[in-house]
Order: sequence, then structure tokens, then C-alpha cells
Amino acid sequence: MSAGHGRFVAVVNCMDGRVQESVSRFAKQKFSADYADTITEPGPIRALAEDPSGAESASIRRRLDISVIKHQAVGIVVAGHGDCAGNPRPRETQEIQLKGAVQTLKQWFPDVPVVPVWVRPEDWEVEELG
Ligand SMILES: [Zn+2]
Repeated sequence: MSAGHGRFVAVVNCMDGRVQESVSRFAKQKFSADYADTITEPGPIRALAEDPSGAESASIRRRLDISVIKHQAVGIVVAGHGDCAGNPRPRETQEIQLKGAVQTLKQWFPDVPVVPVWVRPEDWEVEELG
């Protein structure tokens, strides 16, 4: 189905430059994808969890539609990270937000697996959450 243009995964991540490469690498490995379509906002998990029908979430959804519908993305990775300027909350709070973000994304795209991750501020590497 996507043979002509490669296999895609979608990433919803913070705009923070420190978390781009490790999350992209993880997402491509996790879903055996060639390319990661990356949608960034400052701390997007807050809006997805706490304001799923608001303007920021709608903007994220428009971009995910392109990835899922046009590129047939085989999965979605959604990330939170430590030392986040856009969403300055402790890890415990962000893990709750990530659960809410996963629920929102699964409602929008029930046929696409969604994987939440935490990016450690110690070394900017990815931990997959359950
Ligand atoms: Zn951030």
C-alpha cells in the first residue's frame, strides 16, 4: 500500500531541539519505519490531555490526518520530556498527561497503535511507557 514512498510513523513531540533525534530514532525502530513525520508544539501532551477539542489539539489533528491518511502511518509515538519549557510539570504529572494524550489519539485514530514515551533530561534518551 505504501510501497511507492516508504513506511511512515507519526511523532507528536515537543518543539525542544534536545528531544528530536532520540524520539525520531526510537519511533522508526519501534515501527520499522523509514521516515518519521514529526508534529511539534511546546509540550503538546498538555493540550491533547487537557483540551482535546481546543485549537492546539485541532492543529495537531490536521497534521496527523496527513500522516495517517496520506502516508498511512503505521503508528503514533507521543512524547513528554524533563525540563520542558512549554509544559513545566514534573514527570509524574506528565505521565498522567501522556495517558490522556494517548486516549485522545486513540479516539481520533482507533486503528493506529499509539506509544507514549518519556525523554530523560539526564541524557535525552527515550523510555517507552507501558
Ligand atoms: Zn518541551
